[in-house]
Amino acid sequence: MNYYYLKTEKLTYKVRRSKKVGRITISVNSDGVELILPVGVSLRTGERFVLSKLDWIENKLALMKKDYGKYFLLGKEVFPQLSGGVFTFSEQKPTLKINDELASAEFEKFLFSVAQKYIAERTTQLAFQYGFQFNKVKIKKLKSRWGSCSAKKNLSFNFKLMEYSPNVIDYVIIHELCHTKIMNHSKTFWELVESIIPEYKKLRKQLKRWDKHER
Ligand SMILES: [Zn+2]
Repeated sequence: MNYYYLKTEKLTYKVRRSKKVGRITISVNSDGVELILPVGVSLRTGERFVLSKLDWIENKLALMKKDYGKYFLLGKEVFPQLSGGVFTFSEQKPTLKINDELASAEFEKFLFSVAQKYIAERTTQLAFQYGFQFNKVKIKKLKSRWGSCSAKKNLSFNFKLMEYSPNVIDYVIIHELCHTKIMNHSKTFWELVESIIPEYKKLRKQLKRWDKHER
C-alpha cells in the first residue's frame, strides 16, 4: 500500500485510495489520521474535506490522547471493554472508549474476584509442595502491603498482586508461607525464602512499595 502524507497547518495525515470505500472517509486511530479516497475523487477534494472536518479530527485526537489507565492481569496488559452494560477485561484492545473512573472501579472488583480464586488455590498448592501449614487465606484491599501472616497463621494478600506475573505472586505467597515458620525478617527467614526461590531478590524488586511491607 502506498501512503503519502499531507500537511495542513495543524495536522499531518496519511492518504490512501481504496476501491472499498464509497465516499471520502477519515479514520482517526492510534496510528494517526488517515484520509481514504474512493476511486475517482481528487486529492484536492479530499484535502478540502479534511479541512472541513478539522474540529471533529481534533476532538478525536484529544480523546485518543486521554489516559484511560493501564490494566494488568498476571503481568500482561488487559483492556476494559463495555458491552451490554458489563465490563470485561481481555487481551484485546478496547473497541469502545469508556469512562476511566468507572473502568478502574470495575477493574478493582474484577481483580478482587480473580484474586480470591487464584491466590487461594496457589497458596494451597505451594504450601502442599513445600510442606507449610496455614489456617486461612484472605484477600484484602491493603493499602501499603502485599501480604501478611498472623500468629494464628492466617494469611492475607493484597488483591492488587494479581497485576503481577505468576512468579512474582508465587514469591509473595512463599514469603508469607515462610512467615508461618519464622515470624520475622531475620537472616534465617531470607535463607528459607531463598532455598525455595533462589531468584527471589529479582522478583521482589518488581513489586513497587515493597519497603512498606517490611515495616
Ligand atoms: Zn515479610
